[in-house]
Amino acid sequence: MNGPIPISTISNDAFLEIFQSMSEGLIMVDEAGNIVAANPVADQIFGYEKGALLSLKLEELLPASLRGSHINFRKGFNANPAPRRMGTGRDLLAIKKDGTEFPVEVSLSYTKYKDQLLVMAFVSDITQRKLAQDALKRSEEQLIVYAAELENKVQLRTEALNNIVQELEREVQVRKRAEEETKKALEKERELNELKSKFVSLASHEFRTPLSAVLSSASLIQQYKDKNEPDKIDKHIQRIKTSVNHLTNILNDFLSLGKLEEGKIEIKPEPVRLDQFFHEIEEELKPTLKSGQTITVHCPGEVPVVHSDSRILRNILFNLISNASKYSNEGKTIYLSCSFTPGHCAFHVRDEGIGIPDTDKKHIFERFFRATNAGNIQGTGLVLNIVKRYADLLDGTVSFESEYGKGSIFTITIPHHTS
Ligand code: ADP
Repeated sequence: MNGPIPISTISNDAFLEIFQSMSEGLIMVDEAGNIVAANPVADQIFGYEKGALLSLKLEELLPASLRGSHINFRKGFNANPAPRRMGTGRDLLAIKKDGTEFPVEVSLSYTKYKDQLLVMAFVSDITQRKLAQDALKRSEEQLIVYAAELENKVQLRTEALNNIVQELEREVQVRKRAEEETKKALEKERELNELKSKFVSLASHEFRTPLSAVLSSASLIQQYKDKNEPDKIDKHIQRIKTSVNHLTNILNDFLSLGKLEEGKIEIKPEPVRLDQFFHEIEEELKPTLKSGQTITVHCPGEVPVVHSDSRILRNILFNLISNASKYSNEGKTIYLSCSFTPGHCAFHVRDEGIGIPDTDKKHIFERFFRATNAGNIQGTGLVLNIVKRYADLLDGTVSFESEYGKGSIFTITIPHHTS
Protein backbone atom coordinates (compact mmCIF):
# COMPACT_ATOMS: atom_id res chain seq x y z
CA MET A 1 0.00 0.00 0.00
CA ASN A 2 1.42 3.42 -1.04
CA GLY A 3 1.06 6.45 1.31
CA PRO A 4 3.03 8.75 3.65
CA ILE A 5 5.80 6.91 5.56
CA PRO A 6 5.92 7.94 9.27
CA ILE A 7 9.38 9.41 10.08
CA SER A 8 9.63 7.12 13.17
CA THR A 9 9.69 4.09 10.90
CA ILE A 10 12.74 5.28 8.91
CA SER A 11 15.83 3.26 9.93
CA ASN A 12 19.11 4.70 11.26
CA ASP A 13 20.79 3.36 8.15
CA ALA A 14 18.52 5.50 5.99
CA PHE A 15 19.38 8.62 8.02
CA LEU A 16 23.10 7.76 7.74
CA GLU A 17 22.64 7.43 4.00
CA ILE A 18 21.01 10.89 3.86
CA PHE A 19 23.84 12.33 6.04
CA GLN A 20 26.51 10.86 3.74
CA SER A 21 24.88 11.93 0.49
CA MET A 22 23.91 15.53 1.40
CA SER A 23 25.14 18.15 -1.04
CA GLU A 24 26.05 20.50 1.87
CA GLY A 25 28.97 19.85 4.21
CA LEU A 26 27.73 18.60 7.55
CA ILE A 27 29.84 18.60 10.69
CA MET A 28 28.61 17.41 14.06
CA VAL A 29 30.41 18.50 17.25
CA ASP A 30 29.96 17.71 20.90
CA GLU A 31 29.68 20.29 23.64
CA ALA A 32 33.49 20.56 23.91
CA GLY A 33 33.75 21.37 20.22
CA ASN A 34 35.19 17.97 19.16
CA ILE A 35 34.11 16.94 15.72
CA VAL A 36 32.20 13.70 16.11
CA ALA A 37 30.89 13.30 12.59
CA ALA A 38 31.49 14.81 9.15
CA ASN A 39 30.03 13.84 5.82
CA PRO A 40 32.09 13.46 2.59
CA VAL A 41 31.17 16.95 1.33
CA ALA A 42 32.60 18.42 4.57
CA ASP A 43 35.84 16.42 4.00
CA GLN A 44 36.00 17.75 0.48
CA ILE A 45 35.23 21.37 1.43
CA PHE A 46 37.95 21.45 4.05
CA GLY A 47 40.41 19.28 2.07
CA TYR A 48 40.76 16.41 4.50
CA GLU A 49 41.00 12.66 3.96
CA LYS A 50 37.93 10.65 4.84
CA GLY A 51 37.67 10.47 8.68
CA ALA A 52 40.54 12.96 9.26
CA LEU A 53 38.17 15.64 10.53
CA LEU A 54 37.12 13.39 13.44
CA SER A 55 40.40 13.98 15.26
CA LEU A 56 39.98 17.77 15.15
CA LYS A 57 38.29 20.43 17.22
CA LEU A 58 35.87 22.61 15.34
CA GLU A 59 37.97 25.76 15.92
CA GLU A 60 40.77 24.17 13.89
CA LEU A 61 38.60 24.73 10.84
CA LEU A 62 38.69 28.49 11.48
CA PRO A 63 41.46 31.03 10.81
CA ALA A 64 43.60 31.44 13.95
CA SER A 65 42.43 35.01 14.53
CA LEU A 66 38.78 33.91 14.89
CA ARG A 67 39.25 30.87 17.10
CA GLY A 68 39.07 32.63 20.52
CA SER A 69 35.85 34.45 19.76
CA HIS A 70 34.35 31.30 18.26
CA ILE A 71 34.92 29.31 21.49
CA ASN A 72 32.84 31.96 23.31
CA PHE A 73 30.22 31.85 20.60
CA ARG A 74 30.03 28.07 20.84
CA LYS A 75 29.61 28.22 24.62
CA GLY A 76 26.82 30.74 24.17
CA PHE A 77 25.07 28.50 21.67
CA ASN A 78 25.41 25.44 23.92
CA ALA A 79 23.81 27.35 26.77
CA ASN A 80 20.94 28.37 24.61
CA PRO A 81 20.74 26.15 21.55
CA ALA A 82 18.39 27.04 18.70
CA PRO A 83 18.52 26.35 14.98
CA ARG A 84 19.78 29.41 13.11
CA ARG A 85 22.03 30.81 10.44
CA MET A 86 25.46 32.02 11.41
CA GLY A 87 27.07 35.27 10.49
CA THR A 88 24.03 37.13 9.19
CA GLY A 89 25.21 40.40 7.73
CA ARG A 90 28.93 39.58 7.79
CA ASP A 91 31.29 37.22 5.95
CA LEU A 92 32.27 33.96 7.64
CA LEU A 93 35.73 32.59 6.95
CA ALA A 94 36.98 29.04 7.29
CA ILE A 95 40.38 27.45 6.67
CA LYS A 96 41.28 24.38 4.65
CA LYS A 97 43.81 21.81 5.66
CA ASP A 98 46.38 23.42 3.33
CA GLY A 99 45.84 26.78 5.14
CA THR A 100 43.74 28.39 2.40
CA GLU A 101 41.05 30.66 3.83
CA PHE A 102 37.68 30.62 2.11
CA PRO A 103 34.22 32.07 2.67
CA VAL A 104 31.49 29.83 4.04
CA GLU A 105 27.82 29.95 4.83
CA VAL A 106 26.82 28.09 7.98
CA SER A 107 23.46 27.06 9.47
CA LEU A 108 23.32 25.56 12.91
CA SER A 109 21.04 22.96 14.40
CA TYR A 110 21.30 20.69 17.38
CA THR A 111 20.10 17.42 18.90
CA LYS A 112 20.43 15.59 22.20
CA TYR A 113 21.83 12.11 22.21
CA LYS A 114 22.03 10.30 25.53
CA ASP A 115 21.97 13.68 27.42
CA GLN A 116 24.81 14.87 25.26
CA LEU A 117 24.24 18.03 23.19
CA LEU A 118 25.27 17.52 19.61
CA VAL A 119 25.51 20.58 17.38
CA MET A 120 25.24 20.24 13.63
CA ALA A 121 26.78 22.79 11.30
CA PHE A 122 25.63 22.79 7.68
CA VAL A 123 28.51 24.33 5.75
CA SER A 124 28.58 25.58 2.15
CA ASP A 125 31.72 26.78 0.40
CA ILE A 126 30.59 30.05 -1.12
CA THR A 127 33.92 30.92 -2.76
CA GLN A 128 32.41 30.88 -6.25
CA ARG A 129 29.35 32.87 -5.19
CA LYS A 130 31.60 35.38 -3.44
CA LEU A 131 33.83 35.64 -6.47
CA ALA A 132 30.77 36.21 -8.61
CA GLN A 133 29.40 38.73 -6.11
CA ASP A 134 32.76 40.51 -5.91
CA ALA A 135 33.00 40.56 -9.68
CA LEU A 136 29.47 41.93 -9.82
CA LYS A 137 30.32 44.51 -7.19
CA ARG A 138 33.49 45.42 -9.03
CA SER A 139 31.65 45.80 -12.29
CA GLU A 140 28.95 47.80 -10.48
CA GLU A 141 31.67 50.03 -9.04
CA GLN A 142 33.31 50.26 -12.44
CA LEU A 143 29.94 51.13 -13.87
CA ILE A 144 29.48 53.87 -11.27
CA VAL A 145 32.99 55.20 -11.99
CA TYR A 146 32.31 54.97 -15.70
CA ALA A 147 28.96 56.73 -15.27
CA ALA A 148 30.64 59.44 -13.20
CA GLU A 149 33.38 59.78 -15.81
CA LEU A 150 30.76 59.93 -18.50
CA GLU A 151 28.81 62.55 -16.60
CA ASN A 152 32.00 64.51 -16.10
CA LYS A 153 32.81 64.26 -19.78
CA VAL A 154 29.28 65.30 -20.74
CA GLN A 155 29.54 68.25 -18.36
CA LEU A 156 32.92 69.27 -19.76
CA ARG A 157 31.64 68.95 -23.32
CA THR A 158 28.48 70.89 -22.42
CA GLU A 159 30.59 73.64 -20.87
CA ALA A 160 32.84 73.70 -23.92
CA LEU A 161 29.77 73.81 -26.14
CA ASN A 162 28.24 76.59 -24.06
CA ASN A 163 31.48 78.53 -24.32
CA ILE A 164 31.47 78.07 -28.07
CA VAL A 165 27.82 79.15 -28.23
CA GLN A 166 28.60 82.22 -26.10
CA GLU A 167 31.62 83.00 -28.23
CA LEU A 168 29.47 82.65 -31.34
CA GLU A 169 26.77 84.85 -29.83
CA ARG A 170 29.41 87.46 -29.01
CA GLU A 171 30.75 87.26 -32.54
CA VAL A 172 27.25 87.60 -33.96
CA GLN A 173 26.71 90.67 -31.77
CA VAL A 174 30.01 92.19 -32.87
CA ARG A 175 29.15 91.50 -36.50
CA LYS A 176 25.67 92.87 -36.06
CA ARG A 177 27.08 96.03 -34.51
CA ALA A 178 29.66 96.34 -37.26
CA GLU A 179 26.92 95.81 -39.82
CA GLU A 180 24.73 98.44 -38.17
CA GLU A 181 27.64 100.85 -38.04
CA THR A 182 28.44 100.22 -41.69
CA LYS A 183 24.78 100.67 -42.51
CA LYS A 184 24.68 103.94 -40.58
CA ALA A 185 27.90 105.12 -42.19
CA LEU A 186 26.52 104.24 -45.62
CA GLU A 187 23.25 105.99 -44.83
CA LYS A 188 25.17 109.06 -43.67
CA GLU A 189 27.33 108.92 -46.76
CA ARG A 190 24.20 108.63 -48.90
CA GLU A 191 22.65 111.62 -47.13
CA LEU A 192 25.82 113.64 -47.52
CA ASN A 193 26.02 112.77 -51.20
CA GLU A 194 22.38 113.75 -51.58
CA LEU A 195 23.13 116.98 -49.75
CA LYS A 196 26.12 117.66 -51.97
CA SER A 197 24.22 117.03 -55.18
CA LYS A 198 21.30 119.12 -53.93
CA PHE A 199 23.76 121.82 -53.06
CA VAL A 200 25.26 121.73 -56.54
CA SER A 201 21.87 122.03 -58.21
CA LEU A 202 20.69 124.61 -55.67
CA ALA A 203 23.88 126.61 -55.95
CA SER A 204 23.73 126.66 -59.74
CA HIS A 205 20.13 127.80 -59.56
CA GLU A 206 20.14 130.07 -56.50
CA PHE A 207 23.53 131.63 -57.13
CA ARG A 208 22.75 132.57 -60.71
CA THR A 209 20.19 135.30 -59.93
CA PRO A 210 22.20 137.20 -57.28
CA LEU A 211 25.41 136.77 -59.27
CA SER A 212 23.87 138.13 -62.48
CA ALA A 213 22.34 140.95 -60.38
CA VAL A 214 25.83 141.74 -59.05
CA LEU A 215 27.22 141.65 -62.59
CA SER A 216 24.50 143.84 -64.12
CA SER A 217 24.61 146.33 -61.20
CA ALA A 218 28.39 146.52 -61.49
CA SER A 219 28.22 147.37 -65.22
CA LEU A 220 25.35 149.85 -64.59
CA ILE A 221 27.40 151.52 -61.86
CA GLN A 222 30.14 151.94 -64.49
CA GLN A 223 27.63 153.59 -66.89
CA TYR A 224 26.06 155.84 -64.17
CA LYS A 225 29.55 156.85 -63.07
CA ASP A 226 30.25 158.06 -66.61
CA LYS A 227 26.91 159.88 -66.67
CA ASN A 228 27.52 161.13 -63.11
CA GLU A 229 24.24 159.86 -61.60
CA PRO A 230 25.15 159.17 -57.92
CA ASP A 231 21.58 158.25 -56.82
CA LYS A 232 21.38 155.42 -59.28
CA ILE A 233 24.88 154.31 -58.35
CA ASP A 234 23.78 154.08 -54.68
CA LYS A 235 20.73 152.05 -55.67
CA HIS A 236 22.89 149.52 -57.49
CA ILE A 237 25.47 149.38 -54.70
CA GLN A 238 22.55 148.51 -52.41
CA ARG A 239 21.42 145.85 -54.89
CA ILE A 240 24.91 144.34 -54.93
CA LYS A 241 24.96 144.31 -51.12
CA THR A 242 21.59 142.55 -50.94
CA SER A 243 22.70 139.94 -53.45
CA VAL A 244 25.97 139.31 -51.67
CA ASN A 245 24.05 139.01 -48.34
CA HIS A 246 21.76 136.50 -49.91
CA LEU A 247 24.69 134.44 -51.18
CA THR A 248 26.30 134.65 -47.73
CA ASN A 249 23.08 133.43 -46.12
CA ILE A 250 22.91 130.41 -48.39
CA LEU A 251 26.54 129.57 -47.66
CA ASN A 252 25.94 130.04 -43.90
CA ASP A 253 22.99 127.68 -44.03
CA PHE A 254 25.14 125.03 -45.65
CA LEU A 255 27.93 125.57 -43.18
CA SER A 256 25.50 125.20 -40.25
CA LEU A 257 24.03 122.07 -41.76
CA GLY A 258 27.49 120.63 -42.37
CA LYS A 259 28.47 121.23 -38.74
CA LEU A 260 25.20 119.74 -37.49
CA GLU A 261 25.71 116.70 -39.73
CA GLU A 262 29.18 116.13 -38.37
CA GLY A 263 27.93 116.55 -34.79
CA LYS A 264 30.51 119.25 -34.30
CA ILE A 265 28.31 121.68 -32.41
CA GLU A 266 28.98 121.77 -28.70
CA ILE A 267 26.45 123.11 -26.21
CA LYS A 268 27.76 125.63 -23.70
CA PRO A 269 24.94 126.68 -21.36
CA GLU A 270 25.26 130.01 -19.56
CA PRO A 271 22.85 132.49 -17.94
CA VAL A 272 21.12 134.55 -20.64
CA ARG A 273 19.38 137.82 -19.66
CA LEU A 274 16.46 137.87 -22.04
CA ASP A 275 15.85 141.66 -22.17
CA GLN A 276 19.44 142.29 -23.24
CA PHE A 277 19.47 139.27 -25.50
CA PHE A 278 16.29 140.33 -27.34
CA HIS A 279 17.60 143.88 -27.68
CA GLU A 280 20.80 142.65 -29.35
CA ILE A 281 18.88 140.47 -31.79
CA GLU A 282 16.53 143.35 -32.62
CA GLU A 283 19.43 145.71 -33.26
CA GLU A 284 21.23 143.18 -35.39
CA LEU A 285 18.20 142.34 -37.53
CA LYS A 286 16.69 145.81 -37.98
CA PRO A 287 18.90 146.74 -40.95
CA THR A 288 17.93 143.55 -42.78
CA LEU A 289 14.14 144.07 -42.53
CA LYS A 290 12.03 145.11 -45.50
CA SER A 291 11.09 148.75 -45.65
CA GLY A 292 8.57 149.71 -42.98
CA GLN A 293 8.87 146.43 -41.10
CA THR A 294 9.40 146.61 -37.34
CA ILE A 295 10.11 144.17 -34.51
CA THR A 296 8.04 144.40 -31.35
CA VAL A 297 9.58 142.71 -28.33
CA HIS A 298 7.59 141.61 -25.30
CA CYS A 299 8.70 139.64 -22.28
CA PRO A 300 6.59 139.35 -19.12
CA GLY A 301 7.45 140.42 -15.56
CA GLU A 302 10.87 141.13 -14.15
CA VAL A 303 13.99 140.51 -16.21
CA PRO A 304 13.94 136.74 -16.88
CA VAL A 305 17.18 134.83 -17.07
CA VAL A 306 17.38 131.44 -18.76
CA HIS A 307 20.23 128.98 -18.64
CA SER A 308 21.02 127.98 -22.19
CA ASP A 309 23.49 128.23 -25.06
CA SER A 310 23.00 131.85 -26.16
CA ARG A 311 24.81 131.36 -29.49
CA ILE A 312 22.43 128.62 -30.60
CA LEU A 313 19.38 130.39 -29.19
CA ARG A 314 20.42 133.48 -31.12
CA ASN A 315 20.78 131.49 -34.36
CA ILE A 316 17.30 130.02 -33.89
CA LEU A 317 15.59 133.36 -33.25
CA PHE A 318 17.64 135.09 -35.93
CA ASN A 319 16.49 132.54 -38.51
CA LEU A 320 12.84 132.63 -37.42
CA ILE A 321 12.71 136.44 -37.45
CA SER A 322 14.47 136.51 -40.86
CA ASN A 323 11.80 134.14 -42.19
CA ALA A 324 9.04 136.23 -40.61
CA SER A 325 10.41 139.25 -42.44
CA LYS A 326 10.98 137.40 -45.70
CA TYR A 327 7.45 135.95 -45.84
CA SER A 328 5.73 139.22 -44.82
CA ASN A 329 5.11 142.32 -46.84
CA GLU A 330 6.76 145.68 -46.33
CA GLY A 331 5.41 147.67 -43.38
CA LYS A 332 4.36 144.61 -41.36
CA THR A 333 5.24 144.02 -37.71
CA ILE A 334 7.12 141.02 -36.36
CA TYR A 335 6.42 140.07 -32.76
CA LEU A 336 9.10 138.50 -30.56
CA SER A 337 8.00 137.38 -27.12
CA CYS A 338 8.62 134.81 -24.41
CA SER A 339 6.45 132.99 -21.90
CA PHE A 340 7.07 130.64 -18.98
CA THR A 341 5.43 127.47 -17.75
CA PRO A 342 6.78 125.31 -14.93
CA GLY A 343 10.04 123.78 -16.15
CA HIS A 344 9.91 125.46 -19.55
CA CYS A 345 10.60 128.73 -21.32
CA ALA A 346 9.03 129.41 -24.73
CA PHE A 347 10.05 131.91 -27.41
CA HIS A 348 7.46 133.05 -29.95
CA VAL A 349 8.06 134.70 -33.32
CA ARG A 350 4.83 135.88 -34.91
CA ASP A 351 4.30 137.51 -38.27
CA GLU A 352 1.42 138.79 -40.38
CA GLY A 353 2.78 137.29 -43.58
CA ILE A 354 1.66 134.90 -46.30
CA GLY A 355 1.07 131.94 -43.95
CA ILE A 356 1.58 128.27 -44.78
CA PRO A 357 -0.98 126.23 -46.78
CA ASP A 358 -2.46 123.36 -44.71
CA THR A 359 -1.27 120.69 -47.15
CA ASP A 360 2.35 121.86 -46.78
CA LYS A 361 2.39 122.03 -42.99
CA LYS A 362 3.49 118.47 -42.33
CA HIS A 363 6.60 118.84 -44.51
CA ILE A 364 7.70 122.22 -43.26
CA PHE A 365 10.71 120.97 -41.21
CA GLU A 366 11.96 118.67 -43.98
CA ARG A 367 15.23 119.53 -45.58
CA PHE A 368 14.89 121.46 -48.91
CA PHE A 369 11.10 121.68 -48.53
CA ARG A 370 9.50 124.93 -49.63
CA ALA A 371 5.79 125.64 -49.37
CA THR A 372 3.80 126.00 -52.57
CA ASN A 373 3.13 129.69 -51.87
CA ALA A 374 6.88 130.53 -51.45
CA GLY A 375 6.87 131.38 -55.17
CA ASN A 376 9.72 133.67 -56.16
CA ILE A 377 10.72 134.45 -52.59
CA GLN A 378 14.36 133.40 -52.36
CA GLY A 379 15.19 130.48 -50.10
CA THR A 380 16.73 127.04 -49.86
CA GLY A 381 14.28 125.13 -47.66
CA LEU A 382 17.05 124.47 -45.15
CA VAL A 383 16.52 127.01 -42.39
CA LEU A 384 13.61 125.40 -40.53
CA ASN A 385 15.38 122.05 -40.65
CA ILE A 386 18.43 123.71 -39.09
CA VAL A 387 16.22 125.44 -36.49
CA LYS A 388 14.68 122.10 -35.52
CA ARG A 389 18.05 120.47 -35.12
CA TYR A 390 19.32 123.38 -33.05
CA ALA A 391 16.24 123.04 -30.82
CA ASP A 392 17.01 119.33 -30.43
CA LEU A 393 20.52 120.21 -29.29
CA LEU A 394 19.01 122.42 -26.54
CA ASP A 395 16.69 119.57 -25.51
CA GLY A 396 13.91 121.76 -26.81
CA THR A 397 11.10 121.55 -29.35
CA VAL A 398 9.88 123.71 -32.19
CA SER A 399 6.27 124.03 -33.32
CA PHE A 400 4.18 126.43 -35.33
CA GLU A 401 0.68 127.55 -36.12
CA SER A 402 -0.14 129.25 -39.37
CA GLU A 403 -3.13 130.52 -41.28
CA TYR A 404 -2.79 130.77 -45.00
CA GLY A 405 -2.74 134.43 -46.08
CA LYS A 406 -2.90 135.70 -42.50
CA GLY A 407 0.37 134.90 -40.75
CA SER A 408 2.34 132.38 -38.71
CA ILE A 409 3.70 131.93 -35.22
CA PHE A 410 6.72 129.76 -34.53
CA THR A 411 7.44 128.63 -30.95
CA ILE A 412 10.66 127.26 -29.50
CA THR A 413 10.36 125.65 -26.07
CA ILE A 414 13.43 124.84 -23.99
CA PRO A 415 13.82 123.43 -20.47
CA HIS A 416 13.97 126.11 -17.79
CA HIS A 417 14.44 125.70 -14.05
CA THR A 418 14.10 128.62 -11.69
CA SER A 419 16.21 127.32 -8.79
P1 ADP B 1 13.50 128.85 -46.99
O1 ADP B 1 12.88 130.03 -46.31
O2 ADP B 1 14.93 129.06 -47.28
O3 ADP B 1 12.70 128.39 -48.12
P2 ADP B 1 12.88 127.46 -44.54
O4 ADP B 1 13.40 126.15 -44.10
O5 ADP B 1 13.17 128.63 -43.70
O6 ADP B 1 13.48 127.62 -45.98
O7 ADP B 1 11.36 127.35 -44.70
C1 ADP B 1 10.78 126.28 -45.40
C2 ADP B 1 9.49 126.79 -46.02
O8 ADP B 1 8.56 127.08 -44.99
C3 ADP B 1 9.67 128.04 -46.77
O9 ADP B 1 10.06 127.80 -48.09
C4 ADP B 1 8.28 128.65 -46.68
O10 ADP B 1 7.46 128.12 -47.68
C5 ADP B 1 7.78 128.20 -45.34
N1 ADP B 1 7.93 129.21 -44.30
C6 ADP B 1 8.91 129.28 -43.37
N2 ADP B 1 8.71 130.32 -42.54
C7 ADP B 1 7.56 130.90 -42.93
C8 ADP B 1 6.80 132.05 -42.49
N3 ADP B 1 7.19 132.75 -41.42
N4 ADP B 1 5.71 132.34 -43.14
C9 ADP B 1 5.29 131.60 -44.21
N5 ADP B 1 5.95 130.53 -44.69
C10 ADP B 1 7.08 130.20 -44.07
